[in-house]
Amino acid sequence: MLACGQDGRRADEPMVEVKTVAPRVVVELRYATARNLAKRAIYPKNARAYLRRGVAERLVRAQTWLDAYAPKGTRLKIWDAWRPAWAHQQLWKVMPNPELLRDPRLGGSLHTWGVCVDATLVDAAGTELKMPSDFDVFGKKSKTRYTGADPAVEQNLRRLQAAMTVAGFQVVHDEWWHFCAKDWQAYAAIDLSLTGGEVPE
Ligand SMILES: [Zn+2]
Repeated sequence: MLACGQDGRRADEPMVEVKTVAPRVVVELRYATARNLAKRAIYPKNARAYLRRGVAERLVRAQTWLDAYAPKGTRLKIWDAWRPAWAHQQLWKVMPNPELLRDPRLGGSLHTWGVCVDATLVDAAGTELKMPSDFDVFGKKSKTRYTGADPAVEQNLRRLQAAMTVAGFQVVHDEWWHFCAKDWQAYAAIDLSLTGGEVPE
């Protein structure tokens, strides 16, 4: 069944591993570590980053924009990509706050559709650039519009947002790191394995 506002045109678009389509994009799945809001690993250690093919291809476009307009060596880094529904359930159990997470009973997160990524930037050495906050730090610091006083943070965030919007993503008001395909309505939730299989875990 399609969700409200959804047209399902690309509901069958295959899922691909990000590194096979966008090999220059750095992947560090935070939910495979304890560095997230749950403060423990939710994904298996060997979890891989998957997205719908057309969404993964947009990461290549974002990286190409960075190659042209950001300091040499700047790369996109992904903290989360497709998220299985069971993993979103676990996050909801830890933080059942509808201001921070989408209630699984109301359809859950668009991450479970393979159309959203959590992203930041790294420099040529792979070090994360200064941004308004770390991943999964909610509150004033997570807002898309930076209101702090550090011009470097403002510039880094602007570059990330420019690269992602040029590539076909939209920014999401409450989480500066969260970007969804602007045509997300064309897709739907999808299930597979985080570690390479085709069957749900
Ligand atoms: Zn997100």
